[in-house]
Amino acid sequence: MKIRVGLVGYGTIGKRVADAVALQEDMELVGITGNSYNYKMAVAAQKGYGIYTVASQEDFLKNGIKPAGTFDDLLKKVDVVVDCTPKKIGAANKEKYTKAGVKAIYQGGEKATIAEASFVAQCNYDMCLNKNHVRVVSCNTTGLARTIHAINQKWPVSTARANLIRRGTDPNEHEKGPINAIVPSLELPSHHGPDVRTVLPEVEVFTTAVIVPTTLMHLHALSVRLKHPGPTAADIIKLFEETPRIKVLKAADDIGSTAQIMDYARDLGRNRGDMMEICVWEEGVGVYGQEVFFMQAVHQESDVVPENIDAIRAVMGFKDGKKSIEMTDRNLGIASILGR
Ligand code: NAD
Repeated sequence: MKIRVGLVGYGTIGKRVADAVALQEDMELVGITGNSYNYKMAVAAQKGYGIYTVASQEDFLKNGIKPAGTFDDLLKKVDVVVDCTPKKIGAANKEKYTKAGVKAIYQGGEKATIAEASFVAQCNYDMCLNKNHVRVVSCNTTGLARTIHAINQKWPVSTARANLIRRGTDPNEHEKGPINAIVPSLELPSHHGPDVRTVLPEVEVFTTAVIVPTTLMHLHALSVRLKHPGPTAADIIKLFEETPRIKVLKAADDIGSTAQIMDYARDLGRNRGDMMEICVWEEGVGVYGQEVFFMQAVHQESDVVPENIDAIRAVMGFKDGKKSIEMTDRNLGIASILGR
């Protein structure tokens, strides 16, 4: 029997997760929630997604969409919900899910305490098996966890340091900024370091962050100190090439910026031009003594999408995390071990 999934909060992350669920052979997208009518709802209706209203149905009926029911009706029909609402709303919805006896996946905007465990498939799939409430960590945390974990598995890491250059906002959010400033995060560490430790508790991670006027991607500059000397830059590049959900790119191929990565994703024909893999520049990988340096780019709108799919399988008791990752990546058409 297919896993019956409800999607709550059909925004930047939610609409992508909904499409990804619809592409999995072992899942059924029962429906999505709709707050009020807008272009996203019109497109969802065109795709045949059942729309379950959070407030009044009036708005939808007026615009020619017949809702399939209410939010409460959706909860009666699903095994699991993926809550992609803005931060704090997931926490407010938690009681609803518990009362309805439905499992829930939350997003990185919620505090880690909302769930029994935080999740990055490659780091701690097994820990989330059969849990009722799991939180997929944020886009930045996912990016840091994927690459640091890959290194730590092969060459134990003593400390990881990352400077995060964060995008100001998402491309569709014209009312937010900054548009002409660099805004430092003045908390030390920035909240990302402690968040990475919710999935990689054994690695000491320290982060700083600034926000810059771009909407396309985040960029991380990392320095990872190993417990013992060993790998060369070529070894690290090979490791990243062989790790699912990491993509090694070359500036020499004219992919030298986040703008070019996004254009490359569009050329690849990716849905919405998304790049779900964490992109590492080959030329930027260096090893000096026991320290590994590299730069990576994170597409904030999409890197957490495959994680949500694996989190669904984990909470529903699908035991083989590696197989789940392979199924997800195949169905989403993203690089597993394809290298460049
Ligand atoms: P968003 O604002 O784009 O979308 C949220 C959606 O939820 C909207 O469609 C809104 O109408 C709907 N909504 C609001 N209140 C609701 C309610 N009570 N019930 C049902 N739906 C409701 O937000 P987003 O950027 O997709 O972020 C969602 C979550 O994902 C947050 O926790 C965020 O921190 C996290 N996240 C965001 C990004 C990103 O870059 N956008 C990346 C990773 C994780």
